[in-house]
Amino acid sequence: MSHSEQLFQQAQDTIPGGVNSPVRAFSSVGGTPCFIKRADGPYIFDADDNKYIDYVGSWGPMILGHNHPAIREAVISTAQNGLSFGAPTELEINMAEKVRSIVPSMEKLRMVSSGTEATMSAIRLARGYTGRDKILKFEGCYHGHADSLLVKAGSGALTLGVPNSPGIPEDFAKHTLTVTFNDLDSVKQIFAEFGDEIACIIVEPVAGNMNCIPPVPGFLEGLRTVCDEYKSVLILDEVMTGFRVALGGAQAYYNIQPDLTTLGKVIGGGMPVGAFGGKAEIMDYIAPVGPVYQAGTLSGNPIAMAAGLTALNLLSEKDHHTELAAKTKRLAEGFKQAADDAGIAMTVNYVGAMFGFFFTEQETVTSFSQATACDGERFNRFFHLMLDEGVYLAPSAFEAGFLSTAHTDEDIDATIAAAARCFKNL
Ligand code: PMP
Repeated sequence: MSHSEQLFQQAQDTIPGGVNSPVRAFSSVGGTPCFIKRADGPYIFDADDNKYIDYVGSWGPMILGHNHPAIREAVISTAQNGLSFGAPTELEINMAEKVRSIVPSMEKLRMVSSGTEATMSAIRLARGYTGRDKILKFEGCYHGHADSLLVKAGSGALTLGVPNSPGIPEDFAKHTLTVTFNDLDSVKQIFAEFGDEIACIIVEPVAGNMNCIPPVPGFLEGLRTVCDEYKSVLILDEVMTGFRVALGGAQAYYNIQPDLTTLGKVIGGGMPVGAFGGKAEIMDYIAPVGPVYQAGTLSGNPIAMAAGLTALNLLSEKDHHTELAAKTKRLAEGFKQAADDAGIAMTVNYVGAMFGFFFTEQETVTSFSQATACDGERFNRFFHLMLDEGVYLAPSAFEAGFLSTAHTDEDIDATIAAAARCFKNL
């Protein structure tokens, strides 16, 4: 029995499913999750000392590679002064100013401790600001696990929400409307019926939780127009896309001005951090200046601020994103070529440092229904073959892959060569 197998067995005794976040359990791909011992640059090492080229990057934060020496040093030196004060610090101002300089639509922002908290708080704020209860999200978009957001579409576009997890009262979920990503008509139709009751649209500007699906031209612009027409708040959930699709996030890449933005992952450099922010007029609705309550004992934690600020400083000191995009293209197009050569039907999507590949005959994948129609069983086999080759992909066909500045062309070419071997055995 491998060390990971032993640890997984042991973990299940005290931790539900052996993991502290479900997708880590390899439930969809099957098998035993790799228990990780350490990580460095583009590599992670498991409990059995296997080395993998990592395309998960802790699900996004590791855009500069694992265990970056400057970030590690910032954490260590900041910790010398104490771990948490529950009182304001100068570091928090530096962080807020830095984020605003990179994402100017965030005129004011507040730090929280996870992406879930960021979206949950942004939605409460949008509701408080507009005095409306309903929110609109898209099928297949994930915004963390707050109650109103764990809702999938029923049949048809104009369907009131039903919760897709026990524990969420239907009375609560009914305020969440769900329509089709990349289908502006479905948005217009639901606004025609409920527009005056809709507090906000929340959207992943590049959907990264149903594999990787970029917005079709006009989609995000259309959401902006609809929100303007009905005086609803447009929330871009950039927890995944922030600092990754471009330095200024998807809003910079696609030139869309949201009212509120949610951030996470990169902004903590690996520490538990999220943030939400936007128009000062809206942000001033939260406590203590405004009536909408929102708080957090560890919000703006000094260690997390030091790690995140160092990551943002490093990312913005020169243009990393042209190179990140080129590497991502090299990987995605390399996969596609290797699949073509092996006679395996595959489509790839990529934007900035985010990519996805689909086992499908479809030439383009732009929707949730297309993504879910792909060959999941083939993905699972490919995932395990790649793991055996020393490549760690996200253990689900519905997650985007991530590149870091630490991945070299040699790492990428080795990954493509491994994929070529795996395609032959699929
Ligand atoms: N929004 C998006 C777009 C996400 O991808 C995620 C997590 N993957 C979240 C929100 C929730 O973030 P967290 O897991 O930090 O709560």
